[in-house]
Amino acid sequence: MPISAAELRRKRRVLVQALPPLLQASVRGSLIERYLRCGKPGCHCAKGRGHGPKYYLSVSYPGRRPEQQYVSQEQKAQVENLLKNFDQAREILEKIFAINRKLLRRQELP
Ligand SMILES: [Zn+2]
Repeated sequence: MPISAAELRRKRRVLVQALPPLLQASVRGSLIERYLRCGKPGCHCAKGRGHGPKYYLSVSYPGRRPEQQYVSQEQKAQVENLLKNFDQAREILEKIFAINRKLLRRQELP
């Protein structure tokens, strides 16, 4: 017997409650690490891999250049957490949308 619409709705409510705090605590993108050359003559970085690591939050958009912003060492853990929340939210939303498609197919939305 297929899962009932009531049970699907119940699962959906549980998923919504499991969403991370989207408003205050998520960003989309990825954290990238860079080593920069300062350009000063004689600096060790000219031969080595550069100064760093320096961290940037990079956000990609279709059809244009990614947007990057500097992330200080102090902000790094926070940004990692924000990114993790986004991934979690995306997974949960995907499950919610799958349930909605099932309900839609049966004409039992919402
Ligand atoms: Zn240097």
